[in-house]
Amino acid sequence: MSTNPQNPEWTALTARVWTTTIEPETVTCGLVAGDDHVLLIDTGSSPEQGARLAMSAAAMLGRPVDRVVVTHHHDDHSGGLAGIDGAQSWMHEAAVAHCPGLRVDHPIALMAYVDLGGLGAEVIHPGPGHTDGDLVVIIREEKVTFVGDLVETAGPPQSDETTDVRGWPRAIDAVITGTDGVGVYVPGHGRPVDAVAVMEQRGDLAERIPVEIPLTPVGQHIPPQLA
Ligand SMILES: [Zn+2]
Repeated sequence: MSTNPQNPEWTALTARVWTTTIEPETVTCGLVAGDDHVLLIDTGSSPEQGARLAMSAAAMLGRPVDRVVVTHHHDDHSGGLAGIDGAQSWMHEAAVAHCPGLRVDHPIALMAYVDLGGLGAEVIHPGPGHTDGDLVVIIREEKVTFVGDLVETAGPPQSDETTDVRGWPRAIDAVITGTDGVGVYVPGHGRPVDAVAVMEQRGDLAERIPVEIPLTPVGQHIPPQLA
């Protein structure tokens, strides 16, 4: 995997799935080649980086990236989308709301299927976790699941004001259940891992839940008028 932001290099995970790692945020991006369409998963930190990702993928495959899924709104994943021309894009509607000015063709609430020809991408919102608009991308035919920042192996999991600390372990449960724990899970930062490693991180996250703080199912503090 490349760490050179100027020239992303793609590493094959399977015959039809690749990853690359781009700096400065050590983001792992994915690439899936179907018979008819080419899907990029996450776009880097800037329009220039997004353009370089798409160009490097097109150079390797001999055809352009024409489908893009952004796993969540954080800049290091969504910032490159504006630099990718000629591609249809998918993002969770809550993530879209955090990115005013970003054009997204398919804001989704729960799930979408992106047919690539000969294989497809199941794009699923597993509930609020790392953010309120996480998406995971299951490439079932290749036994590869892109989990965004629900899992990180390059460092400890990160959170922000949209994080749902109680929802996060449940979201991971949904991902593992929905994939039968089969195959490889690609984190938003770091190397791919198996289901056992994902569940270890799930356990660590669950231990961090601040049980003394009342939370609603969407992770918000209960307003005084409802408490
Ligand atoms: Zn993130």
